[in-house]
Amino acid sequence: MNPGREIRYIDFHSHKPGGRSDSLTIMNLMAGEDVPAAFPANTLFSAGIHPWQLTDDNCEQLQAELILTAAHPHIVMIGEAGFDRLRGVQGELQYRVFMFQTSIAAEMQKPMVIHCVRGWVELLRAHSEYGPARPWVIHGFRGSSKLAASLDEKGFWFSLGKEGITPDILNTVSHDRIMLETDDSGRSIDDVYRLFAVTAGYPEDEAADLIRGNFNSLFNYRL
Ligand SMILES: [Zn+2]
Repeated sequence: MNPGREIRYIDFHSHKPGGRSDSLTIMNLMAGEDVPAAFPANTLFSAGIHPWQLTDDNCEQLQAELILTAAHPHIVMIGEAGFDRLRGVQGELQYRVFMFQTSIAAEMQKPMVIHCVRGWVELLRAHSEYGPARPWVIHGFRGSSKLAASLDEKGFWFSLGKEGITPDILNTVSHDRIMLETDDSGRSIDDVYRLFAVTAGYPEDEAADLIRGNFNSLFNYRL
C-alpha cells in the first residue's frame, strides 16, 4: 500500500480487489477464501463467516478456516458477519457463530463489518452482551431514520452505498462515523462519493477529506 494524500476514494466494502492508484479498497473474503497470493496495490481485506454461507454442517470448518485467514497482515476487519432473517440458517447457530467472530475481532483488536437484514434485535442483543472495544460498522445500511438514530446512539458506524445515501439517513447519523462502499453493485466508488457530497451538502473535496479522516480514526491510519 502507498499511503498518502493521493488516496482520494476509500471503498469500504467491495467484493472485488482495487487497483486504482487514487483509491483504497477493502475487499471482502468469505471464510474459506484465502487472501490472494497476488493482489493490486491499495487493497486491504476483511474476512468473516457470512450468514448466507453458514450451515449446520460447515460451521466448525468455517470457524477453523477463519482463524487461519484472519491472521494475515492484510486483514484489517472481521466480517462481513451478522444476521439475516431472510436467507441462510436461522436462529441460535447464526447467533453463536456471530459471537465467535466477535471474540476473534476482540482478540485481534479489529473492527467488524456487519451484514444485517431484519436481524436488528439479535444485533443489538449481541452488542449489549459483548460491548465491543472497536467499532462495528453496518454495511449497506438502508433502514429507516428511526432505526438509524437508535444505532447511531449506540455508537455504530455506517458504511453507505447508493441506496443508503438519503437525506433522512444523513440528517440522522453522525458524519464522523460514515464510510462509503460499492459492495457488489458494480458501480464506481466515485459515483458513490459524488452522491454523498451532493446529498450531504459538502463540496467534493471536503467529502473526500471527511471520509479519509473517518477511515484514519477507525484504523489509526494516516492516509
Ligand atoms: Zn457484501
